[in-house]
Amino acid sequence: MKTVKLHEGARYTSGLRDKTRAGLLRWLARTESCASRLGLRERCVDGGDSFALITIDSLRFDIYANTATPNLDTVGRGIRAFAPANFTLPSHMAMFVGFTPGDPLSGEPFANPKTQRLWKMAVNPDRKLAQNNHLLELEGENIVDGFNRRGDDTWGTGSVRWFNPKFPATRPLVQHFQEYYYPGRLHFLEDQVEWVDQKLSARGSRPTFLFMNIGETHVPYWHKDAAWDPRCNPCDPKAPDQNDRDECMRRQRACLEYVDAKLGALLQRLQQLEFSFLICSDHGDCWGEDGLWEHGINHPAVFEVPLITSVAASSA
Ligand SMILES: [Zn+2]
Repeated sequence: MKTVKLHEGARYTSGLRDKTRAGLLRWLARTESCASRLGLRERCVDGGDSFALITIDSLRFDIYANTATPNLDTVGRGIRAFAPANFTLPSHMAMFVGFTPGDPLSGEPFANPKTQRLWKMAVNPDRKLAQNNHLLELEGENIVDGFNRRGDDTWGTGSVRWFNPKFPATRPLVQHFQEYYYPGRLHFLEDQVEWVDQKLSARGSRPTFLFMNIGETHVPYWHKDAAWDPRCNPCDPKAPDQNDRDECMRRQRACLEYVDAKLGALLQRLQQLEFSFLICSDHGDCWGEDGLWEHGINHPAVFEVPLITSVAASSA
């Protein structure tokens, strides 16, 4: 059993170490035949094949498209995609089994999860797997479990409450990470980045799966040292008469600029380490369209999200 120290003195215990050991033995036994069966090259376990999944929570595509993001742009310029669900939990549950945001009409690499994904779960590992365009085929309960079984380091940090590991309903998203950090509030990107930097500095030679969920762009759209009061939410579905679309736009754009600036050095470091990337939002927000506000509702404004993918040469 492995105990993972969490923020605020909480402790989270998982059976990860036992699972990882067993998974490693299975992985070592089948790597060669599996790679051959899948038409994939043999997996590298010496520093390559690392992935970063970064979700910028609630970020609308139109805000992304009209905001300067010079640091995110070093990874790639995002396309308009459709989120797999309308709020954080199901959207990430879908992403964690391979259904990332996508556009079925896009010809961009890894933009259509129906035909090409960075990672896919083998639903029935005993069944012969078909040749396909997916980069990785993982086995397990989700991709985090799958990367563990592959022998990778798995690190996660999520800021919105669906990533609070204290609660049974939220544990499916976090329980498989070998190392996990929950900052305790939406607006602690600096702490999340520092935690990841520390992990990278102590990193060994194994490939790494890194997950980050960023909360500054989530309602009430606030970042450290922002000039407005975070207790004032301009996008409250329970108080539609008090909401302010223009203020939502202004604040989320400012939060995205903050996020882009705070991620700059980390993105550069991850690229130097030859990580592949999938950066997206898990859903958008309604800002008064058809009288609707926020997310958790099926509306085009909620489903339109940015999607940035970049596959490192070592993983291509
Ligand atoms: Zn969300």
